[in-house]
Amino acid sequence: MIVKQVTDILEELAPLAYAEDFDNVGLLVGDANMEVTSVLVTLDTLEDVVDEAIAEKCNLIISFHPIIFGGLKKITGTNYVQRVVIKAIQNNIAIYSMHTALDNSNQGVNAKICEVLGLQNTTILIPQKGTIKKLTTYVPKDEAENLKNILFEAGAGNIGNYSNCSFGTNGIGSYKAEQNANPVKGEFGKTHFEEETQISVTFEKAAEAKVLNALKENHSYEEVAYEVLTLENTNQNIGIGMVGELENSIPETDFLSFVKEKMNAEGIRHSALLGKKIRRVAVLGGSGAFAINAAKHANADIFISSDIKYHQFYEAEGKMIVADIGHYETEQFTKNLLVDYLTKKIPNFAIRLSGCKTNPIKYF
Ligand SMILES: [Zn+2]
Repeated sequence: MIVKQVTDILEELAPLAYAEDFDNVGLLVGDANMEVTSVLVTLDTLEDVVDEAIAEKCNLIISFHPIIFGGLKKITGTNYVQRVVIKAIQNNIAIYSMHTALDNSNQGVNAKICEVLGLQNTTILIPQKGTIKKLTTYVPKDEAENLKNILFEAGAGNIGNYSNCSFGTNGIGSYKAEQNANPVKGEFGKTHFEEETQISVTFEKAAEAKVLNALKENHSYEEVAYEVLTLENTNQNIGIGMVGELENSIPETDFLSFVKEKMNAEGIRHSALLGKKIRRVAVLGGSGAFAINAAKHANADIFISSDIKYHQFYEAEGKMIVADIGHYETEQFTKNLLVDYLTKKIPNFAIRLSGCKTNPIKYF
C-alpha cells in the first residue's frame, strides 16, 4: 500500500474539502507514492512521536493536529516544528494531518465524544455552509437514463436517506458547429436542433471532481454544457460540534463527575451551576468558545468544550452551563477512533496507536 491509498481511505471518513479555510490539512511531509510499512496514529506530531515511529518502523504518521500550521520559512531546527520536519524527512517518514476535516465529519471527533458520553439522537451543532452543490446538464434524450445512473454512482443524487434523486425535463437544445468542431450529432456550419433532457442532481462538495469527471467522460458531446451552483441549503451531515441527549436527566454535579471520569479530566472549569437537571448536551472537541451561542440556541443544558476564556464563560448567561474540560481531553479519543477505523478498513495492515501522551498542559 502506498501513502495515497491510506489517505484516500481516511478521506472517505473526513474529506479534506470540509476542513476550515484557516487550517493546514492533508499530506504535510513526504511522498504520496511511498510504500507504507506501517502507520502510527497520534494527536500531535512531536519529536518523541517521530522517534516512536522510527523505533516501530512506521513510515506514515497520521496526526490529528497539523505540525506545520503557520508559514514555515526556514527549516534549520531552531524550534520543535522544524526539528520534527527535519527528523521526519531524514528518516523517510510521511506526516498526514486531518484536523478540522475530522472535526466537521459526522463520524469524527464530536461523534466520538458523544459515544463516550452515551449521547443519543445526535445532530450537528453548526452545519457547514456551502457543502451542497447542484449540477444541471443537457444530454441527448436517449442518453439521459444512462448518464443519470453514472452520476449517481459517482456520488450525486443523495438527499438524506434517499439516493438516486434527480429531476429531468425534456426540451430542444440547439448548437452550430464552428471551425475545428467535431460534432457527434448535426452538421458542420448548420444550426442543429436536438431533443435533449435537462438533468439536475445535487451532490456534496467533496464529490465534485468525481461527479464532473463522470459527466465529462460519459457525455457523448465534445463540449458538455453544464452548470454547477453552490446551494444555501444546510447539510446535516457535515459540520462542527454535536448536540445529543442523555437517556435520563441527571443532576448537574452528577453529570460533571461523570464527564470528569469518562473524559479523564484533571479538572473542569465551568460557569455557574443552574440547579437544574442535565438532559441535552452540546460538545465541541478542541477550542470551542465560538460555538457557545449555537449551543444555547440548540437548547443545550451544558456545553462541553475547551480553551474557554474568562469573559466567554459569561456568555452562558444563566441559560446553560459552559464547561471547559481541557483541549487534549476533548480530543484524546480521536486517536482510538482513527486506529479503529483504519483497522476495520485495512485489517491486514499494521496500524499502531502512539504511546506518547502529547498533552502540553499539566496540573499541579
Ligand atoms: Zn485541537
